[in-house]
Amino acid sequence: MKTQKEKILDLQLKLTLAHRLIKEGARPSIVRAVCHISKHTAINLYKEIHGYGPVAGLLPYDPYWATKSPHNCLHASIFFNIYNILSKSSESKGQIFLTSFLLYKETLNGGKVKMDVNRAWYVGQQMTLSYLSGVKCEKCYSTFVAIESYPTLYKFCPICDTITDSTERKKWKKPITFKKIL
Ligand SMILES: [Zn+2]
Repeated sequence: MKTQKEKILDLQLKLTLAHRLIKEGARPSIVRAVCHISKHTAINLYKEIHGYGPVAGLLPYDPYWATKSPHNCLHASIFFNIYNILSKSSESKGQIFLTSFLLYKETLNGGKVKMDVNRAWYVGQQMTLSYLSGVKCEKCYSTFVAIESYPTLYKFCPICDTITDSTERKKWKKPITFKKIL
């Protein structure tokens, strides 16, 4: 059983984490899931920080986002690798998630943040559920994310298996299918 003091400290840690996540743009539903605080508290904190209430409605969710383009895959892979390393620490899961996201942003060194904190949370969830897994590229030896249930044929490295089209956009060398292959 936790003492009253421990309970207060626990709550304080949760609220500090929630505050930092909301400042990063996290939506209340995600803040609740990460920090285990009530809906009421998450919404009130959101209003206090942003000065307005959160947008109603469901969060957009695309299970194939991380593999849709080399650019998405590269960003998801940076986050994936950081998250995997930090997951070995004794910090709380919420703290590991926030730190991973902040380090991902730092890695971009001022470049465009392709994956916001809400998207990063989904990627983290997909890793936990083993929907996404790490694959080692045989050419550059980097570890990138791929959908676990896809055959190897559809697991592409975002650095090696790409071409640049006439508009300077990176595309997969081979067309990728987004249908879940069982
Ligand atoms: Zn590669």
